[in-house]
Parts: sequence; C-alpha cells; structure tokens
Amino acid sequence: MLTEGHDLVVVGSANADLVIGVRRRPAAGETVLGSDLATYPGGKGGNQAVAAARLGARTALLARVGDDAHGRLLLDTQRAAGVDTRPVLVGGAPTGVALITVDPSGDNSIVVSPGANARLTSADIEAAAPLLAAARVVSLQLEIPLETVAAAVRAVGPDTRVVLNPSPPAPLPPDVLAACDPLVVNEHEARSLLDGDPAEAGDDPAAWAAALLGRGSRSVVITLGPAGALAADRRGQTRVPGVPVEAVDTTGAGDAFTGALAWRLGTGDDLATAVRYAVRVGAAAVTRPGAQQSYPTAAEVAALPD
Ligand code: ATP
Repeated sequence: MLTEGHDLVVVGSANADLVIGVRRRPAAGETVLGSDLATYPGGKGGNQAVAAARLGARTALLARVGDDAHGRLLLDTQRAAGVDTRPVLVGGAPTGVALITVDPSGDNSIVVSPGANARLTSADIEAAAPLLAAARVVSLQLEIPLETVAAAVRAVGPDTRVVLNPSPPAPLPPDVLAACDPLVVNEHEARSLLDGDPAEAGDDPAAWAAALLGRGSRSVVITLGPAGALAADRRGQTRVPGVPVEAVDTTGAGDAFTGALAWRLGTGDDLATAVRYAVRVGAAAVTRPGAQQSYPTAAEVAALPD
C-alpha cells in the first residue's frame, strides 16, 4: 500500500452525471424527447479531488467505481487533473450515476444510483489505513456509507486533520463530529444538522456555527454563496466576504470550496486564511459552467480581484 505523503486524501464518491435537456420534464408514465446525452464527471469526492489537484495539491482519491466505461472515464478525468488514482477500487457494482433532466428554466429532476459508491466499505478503508495515517488532511462527504466515513475517521493518523462536508445531510455519530476540523456546511446542511435546535430557527450563521461547535465539532465553516463564508472555532469567528463575480453556474462550487480549504489547511494555513483562499476558489468556479470543468488553477485564483 502506498503511503507517500499526500497533502490531501479525499475519501468519497465518484459519479458519472448523465444530463439530457428537455423542453418539459416527463410526468408519470410519459415519454418525452430530449437533447443529445452529455456525460460529465461528478460526485462530491471526485469533485473535491479535482479541485485540489488543479490548484497544485498532491492529492489522492480513495473511492470505488465500476469496471465499466463510466468508471474508466472518471479515472481518466481524475488522472488528467493530476489526482493519484492508485487507491481507487474498481468493481463490485456499476459506477455511480446521476440521471439528470433539465428544462429550459434550469429546473431539474435527478435520480442517483449510488452503485459502486455504496460498496466502498469499512474493510476497504482498513486496507488503505497507511494511506490515511500518512495524509496531512483527509476530506470526507456523505455520498458513501456513513459507517465507511466513521472507519476513515478511525484510520487517520494523530497529525491528520479531518474535514467533513455532511452532504447529503444525515445525523453524525459523536465520534465523527468530534473529529471534524472543520465541519463544512452550507445553509441547508447547517439547518438540517441543527433540526429542532433553537439556533436553527433563526437566520444567523454565527448562531448556527456556535451551536454546531456546541455539538462537538472542533471547528465549523459555513458557506454563504455569494456572501462568502464564516469560519468558527473555540477562539472565535471570522466572517469572510464573497468575491464579486458574474456567476454563470454554481454547480459544484461547494466542492471546489471544500477541496481548496482542505488543501490549504494541509499546507499549514490557519482556518481563517484557508477560508479566505477557498472563498476565492469558489468564486472562480461559479464564473464557468459545470462542476469539475469549471475549477480554477492557482494562477486563475490569483488573478481574481481582491
Ligand atoms: P453547491 O451546492 O452549488 O455546490 P453550496 O451550496 O455547497 O454549493 P455555496 O455556499 O453556494 O455552497 O458556495 C460555496 C462557495 O462558492 C461560497 O462560499 C463562495 O465562496 C462561492 N460562491 C458561490 N456562489 C457564488 C456567487 N454567486 N458569487 C461569488 N462566489 C460564490
């Protein structure tokens, strides 16, 4: 098993996004004609890995794809971005796919088949433990089984930092929450994790962050779309304003943000400094269409206005 020092190991999903434009999304029992099929690499794990590697991070992806054409496409795309794909496991189920129909107003209907993502097991993580133990940062999301995420948290080294984006939102076991440094959430995810908490009722991200810290997370980052992000740990909170850009497509902006944040933390940035950089990466990503194909290089981030 390879253990050479990666700045970042992303443990998560890799999906093929299959997109068809339609004039009108079909009702039950109805068939409609659509545009040519477009196939894009996606999945939160794959997105984060590409975002970090394109910025220059030494990044590895631990995921599972099927032994099929979609799996090969995803592996090729990761490698082209500079991601170390040697830890990616192949086979056991078809590659995860998202079937997406989009109408002219931009509204969509999506069916996700997790496929191989659901077969990334705790045993797979244990077999890759040296990789996780040697990483500076391990970044996780919830498009793989929660018990696999928990196994990854147990496998990290004493000096490894854990970044978790709980998406799609689900209740987190206390030991997973206690490892998050930071927990990265958007407004929807923050509210979902705080379901029933007094802080959830309000519109104050500072209160959400305080409540999430109170639940045990070591630090918290809340992304706020065009308004930037909020960083919070036990020493205090820092509000980072957004970068004004012309947004074309926000798909995957959160993954670009989190991949960049995880990498910067691995290089030794403090939380507020890393968030400032990640806000710029998220802003650059929304200026171009798509997810992975919209992610910037470090030079493109540097060229953004201050
Ligand atoms: P998505 O689900 O679209 O991937 P998200 O809801 O997880 O995104 P957001 O808070 O919308 O996450 O965006 C993440 C980051 O991207 C923001 O913190 C910000 O830096 C940047 N960003 C998003 N939208 C815009 C925008 N319209 N203008 C500038 N920056 C943006």
